[in-house]
Amino acid sequence: MTSVEEAVQKLAQEGELYEKEPDGRLHCWACGHECRILEGKTGICRVRFNRKGKLMVPDGYVCGLQADPIEKKPFFHVLPGESALSFGMLGCNFSCRFCQNWLSSQALRDPGADAGIREIQPGQIAALAKENGCRVIASTYNEPLVSSEWAVKILRQAKPLGLRGAFVSNGHATRKTLEYLRPWVDFYKVDIKGFDEAKYRQMTGGQMSRVLGTIEDLIDLGFWVEVVTLVIPGWNDSDQELGAIARFLAKVSKDIPWHVTAYHPDYRMDDSRPTPPETLRRACAIGQSAGLRFVYAGNLAGRLPDSEDTVCPSCKKLLIERSGFMIRANRLSNGCCPKCATKIPGVWE
Ligand code: SF4
Repeated sequence: MTSVEEAVQKLAQEGELYEKEPDGRLHCWACGHECRILEGKTGICRVRFNRKGKLMVPDGYVCGLQADPIEKKPFFHVLPGESALSFGMLGCNFSCRFCQNWLSSQALRDPGADAGIREIQPGQIAALAKENGCRVIASTYNEPLVSSEWAVKILRQAKPLGLRGAFVSNGHATRKTLEYLRPWVDFYKVDIKGFDEAKYRQMTGGQMSRVLGTIEDLIDLGFWVEVVTLVIPGWNDSDQELGAIARFLAKVSKDIPWHVTAYHPDYRMDDSRPTPPETLRRACAIGQSAGLRFVYAGNLAGRLPDSEDTVCPSCKKLLIERSGFMIRANRLSNGCCPKCATKIPGVWE
């Protein structure tokens, strides 16, 4: 066991998102894997484990803590121009070969990954957010579902200070966990990494159907939801696959913003190609023709003019101009188009 692993295990506290089974295993339902964990073993994420019949979960540390533009999460329909105090931890319930945060997400699974931790208390994180003028605290960088209890501890301290909560997640959740999070988490970003169940399982270790179900549950439970698809050449960039994602989203709600973002070679797919701008332009057109009202290109700041902006779906007035994570102009008036008064979905105030 590495020193980081030892420290993480020492800080762990008993979790809430589990139940004991008659045969002594612990059924963790923090994420869609729903692991049944034997005494002395960990779940798939490697950070939740059975110690003497209790499910121990991440607590008392962060791995990465900084104020980010809310646009970086990315949330484009949430408090434009504001900052989110963003914290990450270790571990993930997926093992994507193209992970862009693998040093922390795969730290306890891959000996090549390495990331340090910093011990901290929930109240300190809430206070830091306030001191730094952040209006949101985001659990991000690794998969937040695996440390849901820790996020709730932080957000319990943050809510009385007027701060709001966000999850930047792969969406491989359970309905029960989303219900547990709902009082504390306002904004939820989900990845749809493709639209083929077998490929999804092979590439991530998770189930696509779980992720799609999460998006339906999130909308049903009243979270503000934005969806990201990292468009990877040769993996998920066909018209057919992008079209299937867009049609699924449009069926759930045409108001869900869909971010199609550029991939850069990383981790175990470092021999692949970066996403060319014309692929993102094509993905945007596919989203729009499926009926989605807000489709954005990401990770190619300034290289696809107009594709980062919010436009009124009724009169086409340019409402929010962006370049990368920067807001160049915001013409919304009380969340509405100033020209035709169409209400623009999102959380603006
Ligand atoms: S969070 Fe998911 S992967 Fe981790 S132990 Fe629980 S069910 Fe398993």
